[in-house]
Amino acid sequence: MGAKGLTGDIKRRARSLGFDLVGVSPAGPLPDGQRYKDWLSMGHAGKMHYLERRVERREDVRNILPGAKSVITCGLNYNTQAPYSTDCDDSRKGWIARYAWGDDYHGVMDEKLLSLSDFIRAETSGSVGIMRYSDTGPVLERAHAKYGGVGWIGKNTCLINQETGSWIFLGELITDVELEYDSPAPDRCGTCTRCIDACPTGALTEPYTLDSRLCISYLTIELKDKIPLDLRDRTGSNIFGCDICQDVCPWNRKAPVTDEASFRPRPGLYNPGLGSIASLGPEEFRALFKGSPVKRAKRRGLLRNVLVAIGNSGDARFVPVVTERLGDEEPLVRIHAAWALWKLEGKGALGPLLGLKESERDPAVLEELDYILELIDGTGRLEASG
Ligand code: SF4
Ligand code: SF4
Repeated sequence: MGAKGLTGDIKRRARSLGFDLVGVSPAGPLPDGQRYKDWLSMGHAGKMHYLERRVERREDVRNILPGAKSVITCGLNYNTQAPYSTDCDDSRKGWIARYAWGDDYHGVMDEKLLSLSDFIRAETSGSVGIMRYSDTGPVLERAHAKYGGVGWIGKNTCLINQETGSWIFLGELITDVELEYDSPAPDRCGTCTRCIDACPTGALTEPYTLDSRLCISYLTIELKDKIPLDLRDRTGSNIFGCDICQDVCPWNRKAPVTDEASFRPRPGLYNPGLGSIASLGPEEFRALFKGSPVKRAKRRGLLRNVLVAIGNSGDARFVPVVTERLGDEEPLVRIHAAWALWKLEGKGALGPLLGLKESERDPAVLEELDYILELIDGTGRLEASG
């Protein structure tokens, strides 16, 4: 069978497996490789040091699979009918990024990619080389998707398809089979700057450039330490990821809804009450987020984020739950509980924070307490609410 016939069969098979999008690009060095290295050298990856490893593989997939000729990019829509973050303004509720409302996508993607890989082996000699990835290895996924005609990389740095929008999981098969290649998708952002204008932290420092260190998705998922003080106010009610630059994108306004049942929101998870999440013990956290992407933040990371959102809510009804978390076993949680209490109570936080300081032994918590106590000694509540 010729490259054209085989490519058509692979695409039909990909769609029958449930993929919404599929495109093929040639293997080889990518122009985006240099841009990626520049991005790293500017420190935009923050503490995601794994992104600095095996860069030569990201630049050219032939360093992953010697002799590779083609990259088949598959896209799976994860959009559901639930509303956008920009339409929800209840400050007593937290926002979890859309991609994390249902089951972890890695398993879903890998199963489909494995089936497609088996199909290619059956249609060819069987001894072909195929590697599969879905956010699981050193591949510049969006760049391959762009060159395979799956979509363009928008000013918000997401991969956008004209019909499907940007709520898309990407996965690739890298293979040494010669195929027919698609043309790159044209950039359709035009003069729009909605994503850049809407980003609360200025993380889109210029069109097509994301400084992860400022991005709420990085701060609430990837970062393991405390959230920098100057960014806490701006994380708003986002407790796991951030959808704002995609919610405002006009290409997502008519995005179709996925057929994939496992991506539908688990009950109450897309916009959960902050108080109930802040009260989760270790066992309850494990049970609630079993098989969910949210598990990645671990309980201490999620509660850190929730306490920041509670501080930002300005709602004094959260004082009891925050006070309880001052005694949490995790220093990271105690740090953010102290901050949240100060945000809610201003000078009224003085007693509980002094009480915590007496018994506290962790240097990072003590450092935070000293900082807040100094603020209270100075301007107190005015400073907290400013
Ligand atoms: Fe900004 Fe949120 Fe988009 Fe990050 S995810 S660039 S913080 S709008
Ligand atoms: Fe492009 Fe506008 Fe969407 Fe940003 S909001 S990615 S500029 S179309």
